Amino acid sequence: MTANLLEYDLEGLAAFCASLGEKRFRATQLFRWIHQKGARDFGQMTDLAKSLRDKLEGSARIEGLPVITQHESADGTIKWLFDVGNGDAVESVFIPEDDRGTLCISSQAGCAVGCRFCSTGHQGFSRNLTAGEILAQLWFAEHFLRAHLKTGGQRVISNVVMMGMGEPLQNYAALVPALRVMLDDHGYGLSRRRVTVSTSGVVPMIDRLAGDCPVALAVSLHAPSDALRDKLVPLNKKYPLAELLDACQRYLRHAPRDFITFEYCMLDGVNDQPEHAHELARLVQGHGGHGISCKFNLIPFNPFPASGLVRSPQQRVQAFAKILNDAGIVTTVRKTRGDDIDAACGQLAGDVQDRTRVDRRIAQQRTVMLKPVPMEAQTKEARGT
Ligand code: SAH
Ligand code: SF4
Repeated sequence: MTANLLEYDLEGLAAFCASLGEKRFRATQLFRWIHQKGARDFGQMTDLAKSLRDKLEGSARIEGLPVITQHESADGTIKWLFDVGNGDAVESVFIPEDDRGTLCISSQAGCAVGCRFCSTGHQGFSRNLTAGEILAQLWFAEHFLRAHLKTGGQRVISNVVMMGMGEPLQNYAALVPALRVMLDDHGYGLSRRRVTVSTSGVVPMIDRLAGDCPVALAVSLHAPSDALRDKLVPLNKKYPLAELLDACQRYLRHAPRDFITFEYCMLDGVNDQPEHAHELARLVQGHGGHGISCKFNLIPFNPFPASGLVRSPQQRVQAFAKILNDAGIVTTVRKTRGDDIDAACGQLAGDVQDRTRVDRRIAQQRTVMLKPVPMEAQTKEARGT
């Protein structure tokens, strides 16, 4: 079996090249070809010696994930469903805005945390993605979008958020090399603050991330008390709020001048009352004596059939935001993007077996399909064959 070079960060690729008797600068060249130029085969790499290209042909490959479907929302949001084998699929979502292009990517097929309000959580856990499978989402999306949007080779994705399917901090070994490639100047060259890891609160891994790769941290809070959070985010029983907030404070020591983004999914009649907002403000502002440097992002709940939960009315969301803002905490309400294609937060449930049903539902909605590419051709394109 040849090595898939998408699996390696620059250090890993240097070690691979060393095993072929090649110098480090060759690894850098190869890395740039793959991530900056989106090369899929070694024949394209004209500045590499023919002898090296031949060596690579025999020992390595650059293999992305097959694209199962691609849907473009009326607002420009694009969602891809990637096949990760054995009936599992993961999703990535591109969200264009005036001043940035954000890609939301998945870290696991399914998720073991099982939050009450999350369709990925309801689906259960299949497996961790490899570093290469995490990166394949970015690699494919960036180079597809450059061609699709005809940018003349200009970069499209300026921000990456690990907010797709899965709990990134429960897949730490694959997450960190993937983050390193995103940040590497020879890779995607994204700044540390433009790459966000979102977690439901895996405390020991928050500490490790602070030491290994302190990117922007988003913490999914969803409740101001342990009693309520235990019900919504089962992981809270293991790592309760006080420990989680301590970890946030420790994290900020590695990233001074940064802040934690607290995500808060607004659930009608569950966690959206004014007293919840007051309790939240007290919680984060009083923690550890001097409070936590933070912002709040309120996410209107995106319903899915099995949840039995309802989105908070807009007025209640606004009132909640006002209480936090008045307390001096910068609070934004997330615009729901791409909900006509089920690309909004927490609606990502990529079961390939379920695809027919998903496709039918998508087709019933206001979906604008991109030029229809036969699935076989898409698969080939994504694999680079
Ligand atoms: N597992 C990580 C990252 C993936 S979830 C985490 O939980 O943080 C990304 C964000 O979407 C989280 O803040 C999560 O709470 C939120 N989310 C999940 N399901 C949702 C839903 N149905 N509606 C709105 N937001 C949801
Ligand atoms: Fe997993 Fe995050 Fe969904 Fe919770 S919200 S089940 S941690 S993906």
